[in-house]
Amino acid sequence: VAGRPLDFIRQIVAEDQKSGKHSRPVTRFPPEPNGFLHIGHAKSICLNFGISSEFNGRCHLRFDDTNPSKEEVAYVESIQRDVRWLGFDWDEHLYYASDYFEQLYQFAEQLITLGKAYVCDLSGEEIRAYRGTLTEPGKESPYRNRTVEENLTLFRNMRDGRYEEGERVLRAKIDMASPIILMRDPVLYRILKVAHHRTGDTWCIYPMYDFTHCLSDMLEGITHSLCTLEFQDNRQLYDWVLDTLQTPCHPRQIEFARLNLTYTVMSKRKLLQLVNEGLVDGWDDPRMLTISGLRRRGYTPRSIRSFCEQIGIGKKESLIDMSVLENAARNDLNETAPRAIGIVNPLKVIIDNYPRGQVEQLEAQNHPLKPEFGSRLLPFSGELYIEQDDFLEDPPGKFFRLAPGREVRLRYGYYITCVSVDKDPQSGEIIAVHCTYDPQSKGGTSPDGRKVKGTIHWLSAAHAVPCTIRLYDRLFSVEHPDGDKEADFKQHLNPGSLQVIPHSLIEPSLADLPPGRQVQFERLGYFCIDSATSQPGQPVFNRIVTLRDTWAK
Ligand code: ATP
Ligand code: MG
Ligand code: MG
Repeated sequence: VAGRPLDFIRQIVAEDQKSGKHSRPVTRFPPEPNGFLHIGHAKSICLNFGISSEFNGRCHLRFDDTNPSKEEVAYVESIQRDVRWLGFDWDEHLYYASDYFEQLYQFAEQLITLGKAYVCDLSGEEIRAYRGTLTEPGKESPYRNRTVEENLTLFRNMRDGRYEEGERVLRAKIDMASPIILMRDPVLYRILKVAHHRTGDTWCIYPMYDFTHCLSDMLEGITHSLCTLEFQDNRQLYDWVLDTLQTPCHPRQIEFARLNLTYTVMSKRKLLQLVNEGLVDGWDDPRMLTISGLRRRGYTPRSIRSFCEQIGIGKKESLIDMSVLENAARNDLNETAPRAIGIVNPLKVIIDNYPRGQVEQLEAQNHPLKPEFGSRLLPFSGELYIEQDDFLEDPPGKFFRLAPGREVRLRYGYYITCVSVDKDPQSGEIIAVHCTYDPQSKGGTSPDGRKVKGTIHWLSAAHAVPCTIRLYDRLFSVEHPDGDKEADFKQHLNPGSLQVIPHSLIEPSLADLPPGRQVQFERLGYFCIDSATSQPGQPVFNRIVTLRDTWAK
């Protein structure tokens, strides 16, 4: 945000630049390709790529692909698409931790040779039990004092596939009494007999995150390795590995507060559950706070970037209200989305005194504050549709829309007064409303200057184009769907998060809008042509956000 002081990370980067420590910062965004990116990742992307462009450095996109059992090429591709779509570019700096497997293996042998790593035969369960607790020191593994030679032989055997999964691991030899539990001889390598999406069957041992990350950063010459607060303890291990191996460069890990948002879950694991259990329409369901869901919903990259800028970077955990994100969409779309007319639930209006068969073209502005958006012509005729909500047969006093005997202004058109209603003789349901119009009120004022409070939107019945409208609301109905660790977050799904209305109408100028394009339906909200389900001649519109915050208390 212009004029705002630099956040604490940018301050560090600026100081390092000023002191000459790093004339050009090198950052990285290191997703694991085990799911689609979500809005939390956008915060990290904007931070890492933002710093690189503001300080004339570079930012790497690195896939942290060391757990083949959960990773897929499809995720790799979606992540690249999403980062680009957000407006960022890694140029030629695309990396995969798996490209370093051989180097990492050599570093592991080096640790063994230094007497700083050993092969341990304890089971996962035993390792956990030996690890101790915050108040109790850990117990040393009986395998901790194997000789360098024995460790090298066993580790090579691990690589050669001579043992089964879980039979042995490689552990760092640090300190079983460390106040930081993570430092109590952490596992560096485990056996996984799973094919990797890039290295195939070359490896059956895979390095753990803490061993891989610092060395990948080092190999790429990263200067500032930015991660979220949960990794504070991991920093000790990050530094230990690099210090012990006396690497030529030693990136600085800095932690910032992750993004937490109300009314959603944010972890890929939980998002994957929603996808796998069919509770949403895939990773890009417009209710999902994935980047691809937000894109399909109609969010612009600019609105997501400005949201990230607005929430800023801090050192303390915080919870951002969902309305902040929704407002970022509103603010952006208010500027950029042309206005148009859509009717969600149409009600027929017949203008009894309008010349039969006549059609005229009324000029409508495409943006109330921006003449450069131009105008279009809206066909007007004696048979219109209005919104069902804009008519009440028996209205309360303060209802300024259409009702028997009451007069309203048609946007860009005439004044009309309701004279009668047609009802279905069986059901009693209103099927059409009869009105008269004042031919002198064209353009929205009358010569006698009489006051007409309500203005409603409309479409000419013969010209309106049918469409499907999907009204989306928040996916969860409570602020903290995963607040209670014992309970299933899925019980808090909002049953009204999607309402499909198959017989809505749009003005003819929207019939050929390309998928993904956003418009404001006047009085209703911002909408976007759904890129996944729209067919030529059968558009589907997603509601991005309403015009005002309807959740505000
Ligand atoms: P998840 O728990 O959702 O699976 P993750 O941290 O395991 O997320 P990664 O693919 O490892 O997912 O994340 C890549 C980068 O994005 C990391 O540097 C991580 O710190 C950052 N990141 C992930 N979630 C958030 C968040 N909510 N806010 C800020 N940064 C995040
Ligand atoms: Mg991770
Ligand atoms: Mg994760």
